[in-house]
Amino acid sequence: MSKENGTKSSVPLLDVNRGNSLLREEILASIAEVVDSGRFLHGPQVGELECTVAGLCQTSQAIACASGSDALLLALMALDIQAGDEVILPSFTFFATASAIARLGANPVFVDIDPKTYNICPDAVAASVTSRTRAIIPVHLFGQCAAMDEITAIAKKHDLPVIEDAAQAIGAEYLGRPAGAWGDIGCLSFYPTKNLGGMGDGGMMVCHDKEMAAKLRLLASHGMQPRYYHKLVGINSRLDTIQAAILNVKIAHLQSYTDARQKNADRYADMFEASGLSQCIELPYHAPEALHVWNQYGIRVPGGLRDSLRKHLSDMGIGNEVYYPVPLHQQECFRDLGYTDGCLPQTERAAKEILHLPIYPDLTEREQASVVQGIERFYATASLRRAA
Ligand SMILES: *Cc1c(COP(=O)(O)O)cnc(C)c1O
Repeated sequence: MSKENGTKSSVPLLDVNRGNSLLREEILASIAEVVDSGRFLHGPQVGELECTVAGLCQTSQAIACASGSDALLLALMALDIQAGDEVILPSFTFFATASAIARLGANPVFVDIDPKTYNICPDAVAASVTSRTRAIIPVHLFGQCAAMDEITAIAKKHDLPVIEDAAQAIGAEYLGRPAGAWGDIGCLSFYPTKNLGGMGDGGMMVCHDKEMAAKLRLLASHGMQPRYYHKLVGINSRLDTIQAAILNVKIAHLQSYTDARQKNADRYADMFEASGLSQCIELPYHAPEALHVWNQYGIRVPGGLRDSLRKHLSDMGIGNEVYYPVPLHQQECFRDLGYTDGCLPQTERAAKEILHLPIYPDLTEREQASVVQGIERFYATASLRRAA
């Protein structure tokens, strides 16, 4: 297939420039303001963003930091997680959820997922609590909250703190309560591919407790207060004023981005239904309790066909990705933890079957149709092969 005969229909997995270009002048003006002010750290734009995010998450506190990864690390530090402690988390997540735990010398305790939502399984969490457990980190994967009512109930029963990894879920809700507002600390990321993406790294922690917020803020600035007097051994993790200024421009549009992602998800569902493909692939499950913000749109491709479908789409120029091909309990760096293959069956199956398709806000209906047609064509030839 080639561009010349008109059958190659290139669709990017993500095109950050489409959204950003509409705000180009406004963003450049906001950057110019920071440049002229000379306040590259601790500028007023940071506090402004913190206020807006706290409002969005319905928390009284928000503390900016350098990345979502740092937000997780700082949250664990604020809870005094130490060497030998156990922290429960899903294996099916981005590496940063686990590396923050390992960085402190604590042990990540990986548990399995619910095969429908891909989020941490509450029963597995309950079964993994030991006398050494010090925290639980549910991840709101792909923009849909974990079963926070059940998870917070388990945590309460064992008097354990909950850190929400809401890096992919800003604006999401569960039972009407925002992501980040359920646990003791919520962690957000402004990495460019996230629903609120900056132009570089950035992150934020949200919480309800003023003292906790003060500790997080202290830890994010070398534990220093006042200047050159160190109360705690913290780290240097700040959000640049320039990033805050850019994010202040973009956050005014977050609701419209979310609306567009939801519209795209609904449209995929209609298109896949109309094409009959929902018989071949499993569409993403949207729990009735959840307000899904669709950071990613992942289909499940059964029958060992995922990698060949993936290649077919890539050959057609249709963007796709696998989040995540190797579960964390099977990563080389965690080999010493002693997890065996097959111990988290739903996680391992998801890693083999899931395939992510373009879902970003500015994706057009035509592009979505190309994605669906690309998959239709794959199954048409696959069934021809089977018939032959
Ligand atoms: C992106 C992400 C992070 C890390 O955020 P960064 O800002 O990239 O450091 C952590 N957890 C999850 C689930 C993520 O998707």
